Amino acid sequence: MKKILIIGAGGQIGSELVPHLRSIYGNNNVVAADISIEKCKHLAEDGPFEALDVLDKDHYIEIVRKYKIDTLFNLVALLSATGEKNPELAWKINIGALTNSLNIAKDNGCAVFTPSSIGAFGKDTPKDKTPQDTLQRSNTTIYGVCKVTGELLSDYYFHRFGVDTRSVRFPGLISYVTLPGGGTTDYAVEIYYDAIRKQSFTCNVKAGTYMDMMYMPDALKAVVELMEADPTKLKHRNSFNIASMSFDPEEIAAEIRKHVPAFKMDYEIDPVKQAIADSWPNSMDDTCAREEWGWKPDYGLEKMTTDMLVKVKEKFDKGLIK
Ligand code: NAD
Repeated sequence: MKKILIIGAGGQIGSELVPHLRSIYGNNNVVAADISIEKCKHLAEDGPFEALDVLDKDHYIEIVRKYKIDTLFNLVALLSATGEKNPELAWKINIGALTNSLNIAKDNGCAVFTPSSIGAFGKDTPKDKTPQDTLQRSNTTIYGVCKVTGELLSDYYFHRFGVDTRSVRFPGLISYVTLPGGGTTDYAVEIYYDAIRKQSFTCNVKAGTYMDMMYMPDALKAVVELMEADPTKLKHRNSFNIASMSFDPEEIAAEIRKHVPAFKMDYEIDPVKQAIADSWPNSMDDTCAREEWGWKPDYGLEKMTTDMLVKVKEKFDKGLIK
């Protein structure tokens, strides 16, 4: 990776992946792009930025050629809960971003990273320690259908055209820089903000709902390690299970209470999110990622909670949020 383009740079992952990659590869070698500069002002101050609608293929090609890009990070997607509100649009954006990225990569010699998700699994997938290679035929969301399609198509472009496609199935990502963009695991971010804001939280998925989660620093580390991995060691490509922690709402609340003893939680279930959460794994088996490219997370629930509460409190103290 020498010249990198990140599309969807203003989102929850991109807003942290851009600075992370710039710190490793140099500010001018990492181009941030999003549909508008609105969410990317800070990224545009530190390095190159382009306003790009990823569905505009000609403009996308122009940017890849202008900067002589060799690696594409395609982060554009409508997420799981948002996607269910408009499945047709979710397919158009998620698959449009993917096919444009793959075709442009094929014609311009780029590697491509397009994240998959725990949402690539469905209700008939084994729920505990979900294997790397398993059933993915019982998906109940358009988001998941797009993710399975993305995994298959990315493998196809590797085998058929030699495009260096690599990907991970991200768990729900927990971070403090940018709020999540409409996923089913968003509660596990919002809970920290409300713990600081009002020492209480109304959770929209039921107690006992286990899902894989990951702290953003581990997610960023995974992306770089996978993209830098020796290709001869990769038996899989699209996409690797990666895991670091699995918890239910009661467990994260109990962890928060160690720092905020007065913290209280009640429930108001969102039926759409609950149904999606129920169809996803409780925990994934990430043995293949560990064996093929040395994946090993740094954060569990305890260490993440300590850090999140400090960082979110700093944002309140500085008046960055209310
Ligand atoms: P996000 O919703 O926060 O960000 C997506 C970005 O894409 C936004 O900044 C949006 O402005 C941009 N975008 C939308 N339409 C566009 C278009 N037509 N052209 C250009 N930009 C456009 O998403 P995220 O949470 O950062 O997720 C990034 C990727 O990681 C997605 O593929 C998502 O499925 C995957 N993922 C995320 C999580 C998570 O917990 N955040 C978990 C698993 C997988």
